[in-house]
Formats: sequence, structure tokens, C-alpha cells
Amino acid sequence: MEKEQKTSRPPLSVILPAYNEFDNIHPAFEQLSAVLDGAAIPYELIFVDDGSDDQTYHNIQILSSSHPQVKGIRFTRNFGKESAIFAGLEAASGDCCLVMDCDMQHPPVLIPEMYRLWQEGYEIVEGVKASRGNENIVHTLCANAFYRIISRASGFDMAKASDFKLLDRQAVDALLSMPERAPFFRALSSWIGFHSISVPFYVQEREAGVSKWSAWKLVKYAIRNITSFSGAPLQFVTLLGWIMFLCSVGLGIQSLYRYFTGTALEGFTTVILLQLLIGSILMISLGIIGHYISRIYDEIKARPRYLISKKCGF
Ligand code: UDP
Ligand code: MG
Repeated sequence: MEKEQKTSRPPLSVILPAYNEFDNIHPAFEQLSAVLDGAAIPYELIFVDDGSDDQTYHNIQILSSSHPQVKGIRFTRNFGKESAIFAGLEAASGDCCLVMDCDMQHPPVLIPEMYRLWQEGYEIVEGVKASRGNENIVHTLCANAFYRIISRASGFDMAKASDFKLLDRQAVDALLSMPERAPFFRALSSWIGFHSISVPFYVQEREAGVSKWSAWKLVKYAIRNITSFSGAPLQFVTLLGWIMFLCSVGLGIQSLYRYFTGTALEGFTTVILLQLLIGSILMISLGIIGHYISRIYDEIKARPRYLISKKCGF
């Protein structure tokens, strides 16, 4: 199933979201060009500056002015990594697109192998984490909980999934045809199907700089992605309702029994406890429903996923 090539060698678009990564732009270019030139793979590098406050875009422009294969997009503000990935995919002209972090935690040495698998006919070549690198224990535990929920919600095993993926043009077009405002690249690229294969990789140390994910940003990211992919939390509301109903049947029978046998207690403690419990469950449920309503509100407003202020190299 050797892939038909539109040009003599199909170009590869490498998409690199970058947020405050000024010191990683040049090293990323050096490493990627060494690997790709070494493997004689024609390519373009698209750096998407996700509204950085540092010299990230300036460095992209410098590279782009001397290397025609380097292109840059700058957002008007920080729209998040998912938006940066989709902006890169939209701007890419390659017959296949590779998404990777620009801190080189996704090892560039694997690219020739991923590209070869694509040429063999795989439409999605997924980098899966053989290790999670040097993360602290709390981060690993939270990440595991998040991936368990999202795997169950999406029906795909996301535990080792990463954004390091090579996608055929057809898969890219399928992803770009999704109108949703808050796409979750990692899960959507499994959801679209296609003929795929996994390539394990070890998460590398960051080249420079620090991780852009604070604990709060990760929690928001997890909630956003779980609710963008699944209505399961709404069923949780129903489940809470059933649990409360079963408790109320039990308590109701007991209260009636005591009433008719003349042993009914004053019951203030029970009443106050029940009030507090029901109040909390109602508020949690309203919160969950409210969150979905706010998501529907976001979708209906249909604002763009990102806004671009500058481009270079295109
Ligand atoms: N990133 C981004 N926008 C953000 C946060 C991160 O484009 O709001 C980029 C970042 O520059 C990097 C990639 O996403 O290229 C992964 O981010 P990071 O290395 O901070 O995450 P970690 O590897 O620690 O999970
Ligand atoms: Mg990183």
C-alpha cells in the first residue's frame, strides 16, 4: 500500500506551538533541520507563537528571513495550545503534517521513522509515551486520573497519548472540518478514525525554559477537554439523583415505621444533615449543568478559535 505521491517527494509540514519559548526556537530549528535534511525529507516548519510575552516571534522572524522553509504565525494573545495546533494545521501545505512541542520533549530523531510509516500507508502515526519523563508525583497522579476519565468518555485509550502525531492530509482535512470551538486535538485525532499506528517514545528533558502548565491551567484544561468530549458528567447528576432517591426511600420507611410505632424522634439532626446534603448535591448538579450551558453559549457565539496578528514566511 505504498502511498501515491503528488509531488516527487511529498512535503512534510512540522507544526510547533510555542508560548514563551524564545530560547527554544533556534535549537528546535537546528535539531529538526539536521534530522530532516539528513533523511532527505522536504519540509516546512510552522512555528505558531501563542501570544508570547517574550522574544519568541522575533526569533521566528529572524529564522524565517534566512530560511524559506521556516514560517511563523503570531496570535493576538494566548489562545492555548489546542488553538495553536489548529492554526498550524490550517496554514500547513504539506501532504502530511507533524505536530510536536517546540521544547523538543518530543524526540525529532523519530520523525524519519514516522514519515516512513506514513509513506507505507498509515494515515495517522501516533507518538505514544513510553514514559512520562521527570514529572512530580502529584502531576502524574492527576494526569492519570484525567486520562482515565477521558479514555472512558471518548472510548479510546488515551493514557499514553500525546500531541506528537503525524497526520495524512486527509486526516488533517477531517480535523479541520470540525466546527467546534474547543477542539481537543489528542482525542479528536483518535475519534476521526483512519488507519493508524503507534510509535513509542521517551519524553525528553526540556531544551530550555520551563513548562507552561500551572496546576490551575491543567485543571481548567482537564475540565474543558472532558466536557468538550463527553456528556458523562451530566449522567453523574442523574446518578446522584438516584443515590439520593434510594437513601430517601430507606429513610422514609424508617421514619414512617417510627411514626406508627410511636417511637419517632425529634429528628433535628437528621433534618439538618439531609438539608445540607441535598443542598450540596443540588448545587454541584447545577454547577455541572451550568458548565455545559456555558459551553453551549461559547459554541453558539461561534467566535474564532484564535486571531492572528502577524505572519511571516508565507
Ligand atoms: N504551549 C502553547 N500554548 C500554551 C501552553 C503551551 O502553545 O498556552 C506550547 C509550548 O510552547 C510547548 C507545548 O505547548 O511547545 C507544550 O507545552 P509545555 O512544554 O509547557 O508542556 P509540558 O511539556 O510541560 O506538558
Ligand atoms: Mg514540554
